[in-house]
Amino acid sequence: MSADSDHAYETLIQFLYRAPVALMQLRLDGEIEMLNPMASRLLMPLAPDGDLQNLFEVLRPHAPDLAQLSADFAPEHGLICEGRRITLPAGADKGPEVLSLGLLKVDRQRLMAVLVDATHEVMREQRVLASRLASAARLDPLTQLANRSRSLELLQEMTQRARQPDGDHCAVLFINVDRFKQINDTFGNEVGDQVMVLVAERLRTTVRSGGRPPGKPNPTEVAARVGGDEFALLLDGLPQQDTAERIAARLLDRLSLPFQVGAHELICTFSIGIVPLEEGARQADDVLRDAAIAMRVAKAEGGNRFAVFARQMREQAVLRGGLEADLRNAIERGELFTVYQPVVGLLADGRIDRTAGVEALVRWRHPVRGLVGPTEFIGVAEDCGLIGAIGEQVLDMACADFARWRAQLGAGAPRLLAVNLSRAQLNQSGLCERVGAIMAAHGMEPGSLQLEITESLAAQGTDVRQQLLGLKALGVKLALDDFGTGYSSLSSLHLLPVDTVKIDRSFITLAASSRHHEVLIEATVKVARSLGMNTVAEGIETPQQAAVVSAQGCDKGQGYLYSRPISGAAIEEWLSAVA
Ligand code: C2E
Ligand code: MG
Ligand code: MG
Repeated sequence: MSADSDHAYETLIQFLYRAPVALMQLRLDGEIEMLNPMASRLLMPLAPDGDLQNLFEVLRPHAPDLAQLSADFAPEHGLICEGRRITLPAGADKGPEVLSLGLLKVDRQRLMAVLVDATHEVMREQRVLASRLASAARLDPLTQLANRSRSLELLQEMTQRARQPDGDHCAVLFINVDRFKQINDTFGNEVGDQVMVLVAERLRTTVRSGGRPPGKPNPTEVAARVGGDEFALLLDGLPQQDTAERIAARLLDRLSLPFQVGAHELICTFSIGIVPLEEGARQADDVLRDAAIAMRVAKAEGGNRFAVFARQMREQAVLRGGLEADLRNAIERGELFTVYQPVVGLLADGRIDRTAGVEALVRWRHPVRGLVGPTEFIGVAEDCGLIGAIGEQVLDMACADFARWRAQLGAGAPRLLAVNLSRAQLNQSGLCERVGAIMAAHGMEPGSLQLEITESLAAQGTDVRQQLLGLKALGVKLALDDFGTGYSSLSSLHLLPVDTVKIDRSFITLAASSRHHEVLIEATVKVARSLGMNTVAEGIETPQQAAVVSAQGCDKGQGYLYSRPISGAAIEEWLSAVA
């Protein structure tokens, strides 16, 4: 060997000697032929008697399959394993906890083994995993907004934070989609999920465009998904307390634009509950609960609005909770009854036809709370699955009264009986059979029953359409209730198998004072008429309103001007009064 090659050899030895990885040359059965110092450092603690003869033997307690792995490797040379993790029992000496092994078959007789201490690498991997898990635990997977538990954490911080004396308010907005269940029922959960994603997107952008006077600290504004169709906005550092209301109003505006999901263009309305946080530290759970209560108040008032939390709302919420249990009893104990509101024919000469029809409206005589109106309990009945039973009871009672009037009053009896049908009933199978059976039981002529469905998204689903066609096949008339407040528009009226359009009270109320509403009524009447449908103006309270709707060509009217809803007995009296 020359001096040069001597030197190169020495360098190579030094390199192998100092290498921070364990290197070994083995025979195929694991017998160690050569090893560098790092190898003995890593392996010594694993060989209590100091015997470093055979690598597979030393590692057997932790990786029993190595000898077999090598024996099974048929090719003359090649990689047997790489990065094979070997977990060691945690020793008191703080030695490695995980080794990473590579085995290379060099030729028919020899293996090369590379071993490194992978403890730090594994720990780093675990830290990354843990932080991914933690962020997954704080994010809603569907919308990528903060989830409920994260929003409660943030809210807790917000409520506990010391406030500056001026221009440093905070509030929570609780946002819920009105009638979301209908979207799921009509279009399926996937469309429902997509709507959630789009809602989240709009919440994000609304939050970011909050606007802020210069010189003030940036407000914290966080959007979160706190339940199925429930969102929250946490607003901190607001310049004024009523800024929250302005944000809520802007949000309602933005959210009222259509959502495009595949081929569907969906219009949703929302209810928002606001809790201003003035009086210092409060439990985040309580704040969110209060916000949800205020949201429900906004929903009960018709939705598409916000309500600011007030303390008495909490007591009312407790009452509503009790309603569900009471409602089950109410059906059995016969606490539900119907009142009737006349629907009059609007005659060209300004007179009215009193026998045009009546609408049955359900009431509940609650043993403790007294008279409860349908807006308070129909929603509860829909939620808890009692609406079917209630609807049938109402239909049965109304048909019985109607048959009695026909028998007693003959030509002086109302010609049409209108009964409301809840959206939830339209989703129930067997509805047509039950309606048919009740009519038959009372000898109702099919053409004298009108079922009213609220103008709604549900009317666009194919199942619901089938159900409506089934009812039509019974000979029953169908009316679209509260037209103008829901999802359908004049241009889609022809898609619905209805005979009558009832124009919502909100239009009639403004008919005499707003030209815009007058024009809308006129257009509705014209379109309806061109489709062979007739129209009813709902909620006529003044002679002026009656004059306007009559001039616009509405066929019928209903409202306090003619009569409030009254008992069946009072209807007989009302009918006999001189028009
Ligand atoms: P609707 O079917 O549109 O009934 C008309 C509602 O407007 C009735 O309220 C009636 O009292 C009220 N109304 C009528 N004329 C006037 C007026 O001139 N001014 C004002 N301010 N209000 C007027 P009610 O009885 O509280 O019923 C509310 C809603 O509850 C009904 O609206 C209907 O959607 C639902 N409903 C009532 N009975 C039943 C029922 O048996 N089953 C189902 N599913 N829903 C029902
Ligand atoms: Mg109605
Ligand atoms: Mg109505």
